[in-house]
Amino acid sequence: MKLLRISSLLLVVAGSAGAQQAATTPRDAAVPPAWDVLLRPRTHVPKPTTSAITAEDLRTRLYIFADDSMQGRLLATAGNVKGTDYIAGELKRMGLEPMGENGTYFQTVNIVDRSYDSATRLSVGSTNFAPWTDYVLRDQGSGARSLDGVQAVFGGTWGDSASLIDATQASGKLVVLRLSPSSASPGTGGGVNRSQVTRRFSTAAGIAVASLEAMAPQLVQIYQQKNQLVKDGTDPSVPSFMYVTQRVANSLLNASIDSLKSGAAGATVSSTPRYREAPVEFPGRNVVAVIRGSDPKLREQYIAIGAHNDHVGFSTRPVAHDSIYVINHLFRTGGADDRPPQLDAAQQAQVNALIADIRRRSNGTSARPDSIYNGADDDGSGSVSALEIAQYFAAQKVKPKRSLLFVWHVGEEEGLYGSEWFTDHPTVPRDSIVAQLNMDMIGRGSAADNTGITKEGHRYSGNPNYVQLVGSRRLSTELGDLAETVNKSGKSPLSFDYLMDANGHPTNIYCRSDHYEYARYGIPIIFFTTGGHADYHQVTDEPQYIDYDRMARVAQYVADLATKIGNLDHRPVVDKEKPDPKGQCVQ
Ligand SMILES: [Zn+2]
Repeated sequence: MKLLRISSLLLVVAGSAGAQQAATTPRDAAVPPAWDVLLRPRTHVPKPTTSAITAEDLRTRLYIFADDSMQGRLLATAGNVKGTDYIAGELKRMGLEPMGENGTYFQTVNIVDRSYDSATRLSVGSTNFAPWTDYVLRDQGSGARSLDGVQAVFGGTWGDSASLIDATQASGKLVVLRLSPSSASPGTGGGVNRSQVTRRFSTAAGIAVASLEAMAPQLVQIYQQKNQLVKDGTDPSVPSFMYVTQRVANSLLNASIDSLKSGAAGATVSSTPRYREAPVEFPGRNVVAVIRGSDPKLREQYIAIGAHNDHVGFSTRPVAHDSIYVINHLFRTGGADDRPPQLDAAQQAQVNALIADIRRRSNGTSARPDSIYNGADDDGSGSVSALEIAQYFAAQKVKPKRSLLFVWHVGEEEGLYGSEWFTDHPTVPRDSIVAQLNMDMIGRGSAADNTGITKEGHRYSGNPNYVQLVGSRRLSTELGDLAETVNKSGKSPLSFDYLMDANGHPTNIYCRSDHYEYARYGIPIIFFTTGGHADYHQVTDEPQYIDYDRMARVAQYVADLATKIGNLDHRPVVDKEKPDPKGQCVQ
């Protein structure tokens, strides 16, 4: 599952600067953490998998897929290529039909590395300004307009709409804006809502916001990093966008920005700072395969079963595994969804005592330096469950009437890249997909895990039968009802938690995994997850902490539901309003 949203990252940045540290997250789970799990072995001897969906098969698969050698499976890295090779190899062994490109199991997502082109500068006359100190160029695609020979104009104060010049006055110009204190969103320090500003001055050549002094240095560092993004067609023509210092603003405007009236003409800019794009070294690949249905007509329709093959890679700053585990399980029970805690003296003493005890009992091995985000739960659990489900159906003599489409999406963590790409460029007709069942993080959910939070902010925990369903009735009431019926008819029903699916829930979970990319096209979906926990997006998300029995139950249930939908005499009826495929996701 991808991180909450960029603003939460900014809050973390602001918090770590020490400016506004939040109180630590109180522990609020039903039972205390079991520290003995830190003594569990980190290795597992693989056994041949069977056609049944079993905890042992899932364990074998996950210890391979979430191994340190996969380096955290980050999009467009060697580790992710290795992980997707493993999935494709298993599919081949099981005899699934490849449904990627050119007769392969892979669909390559067009991803580019984007970084600042250090050969370019912002210049006025003979004065060259320095990137990252005088100005911060924001990533706006290769369609960013040229500033060569463009005149600057003072656009007014953002946050005081009466002071702003008309869009027509800004047309073809570099609009320089001042910021009112109230328009800086809390924690971001000098940032503005870029899409709002760009919409207001959509025909400008460029936009420069004079607030760089207020921006946290850590944020400037984040902006400075190379990033990867999906490139689909030509980038739209948009204004160049940057933050500048007051000094640069004065120079652009030929006067002190504080003394000017809106619409005052400034200097002419003589060069354009730009980003540059380069092909990625390692491909970002979805893995796609099909099991054909048994009905000659209905086999042209598909039940899509999905998970994501990527995670967030590794850090160059190792931490002691036991120490981060103990701190997070006591004081950061939502993992990366919570801010890093600041411990007081008593809390630090509690942590130290626990760690000392565990180190004594593990002969010090629990203190191993750890830098790899293994993503055993996120989304190793969904990925290996999809493999187990594929093996289960592949061995069946009589398949469901409809076909089963398995997609392991890449780049989910970076922003649902692979699922966006697959649904924009589906390898089967999009309208032939009758439902999508997404599994993302289905290996936890115990009473010691902080699995969710109510809309009102009360944290809660899981139980032995726990699983969350998200979005199950957002397009098709019938699909949501089927999910209930199939569960109740099973031998040991799971206990469904719908609290995270509440409309307007601040954690926005409906918009945070791959299923949404299907839902935006009106395909009914269900997102299955056993919820959050203290190891979410931490180096401690490792295979020895996974509940394999529960994962097997959830996977079997998803297989049973797929069978039910696959054999229906009609496709699940969509009785709710379809979203705008290009619009913003709303929970
Ligand atoms: Zn994630």
